[in-house]
Amino acid sequence: MKKSIKGILLWLFFTKHCPYCNKVIEREYDICEECRVGRPIIKEEKCKNCGAEKIHCDCKGHKMGYDGIAAPFYYEKSIRESIRLLKFNGKDFIAKRLADDMAESVRTDYKNIDFDVICYVPFSKGNKLARKYNPSELLAKHLSEKLGIPLEPLLVKLYENKNQRNLNVIERVGNVFGVFDVADNVDVNEKSILLVDDVKTTGATLSNCAWILKIRGAKSVYCATVAIPSPYKK
Ligand SMILES: [Zn+2]
Ligand SMILES: [Zn+2]
Repeated sequence: MKKSIKGILLWLFFTKHCPYCNKVIEREYDICEECRVGRPIIKEEKCKNCGAEKIHCDCKGHKMGYDGIAAPFYYEKSIRESIRLLKFNGKDFIAKRLADDMAESVRTDYKNIDFDVICYVPFSKGNKLARKYNPSELLAKHLSEKLGIPLEPLLVKLYENKNQRNLNVIERVGNVFGVFDVADNVDVNEKSILLVDDVKTTGATLSNCAWILKIRGAKSVYCATVAIPSPYKK
């Protein structure tokens, strides 16, 4: 009896939020209408090299430091808002939902690969003090739980560089050069690694991280992000 009263009270007062944009939604739905119809889902057939739908791919097979990239979404519409909430508010329920979508992409796009370990693009120590959480770390934690692959902080960021956002493609490559290293006391030799970040922009950061992991002996480095650049906004 007590339980059912509690249940009724919860039903009356509990507000439900959209796991992508945090908007309050009606109880019978899991996602708000805007996100239901407007999520920019990347559909199969995908280019394994850049993660875009083949009809949108313009990478021309140009190889980056990593072996492939898998993302469920293009970076636009409600997914931009999800990433913003994750980055600046550290909303863990959003990280969890996005990691669900990422797990689906990893299972589909990398179905023949046995990953030994998951790692993420780290913040430098200075940045971690300024911001309590790293969105890539939150996503990697949930992805590790969902996929049953151990999470290890394999990488360190040696110093704070400029924000990539305001730099052009060439400057971005230079800006991340030598910024990342493999952490002390970790062994990446012959490992197949899944590298996690929130958004891929030019791929310079992911490429640099993959490159240093490979120099230290990693067998392969594949990336998983929530989103890649939208082909509609160029
Ligand atoms: Zn929504
Ligand atoms: Zn491509």
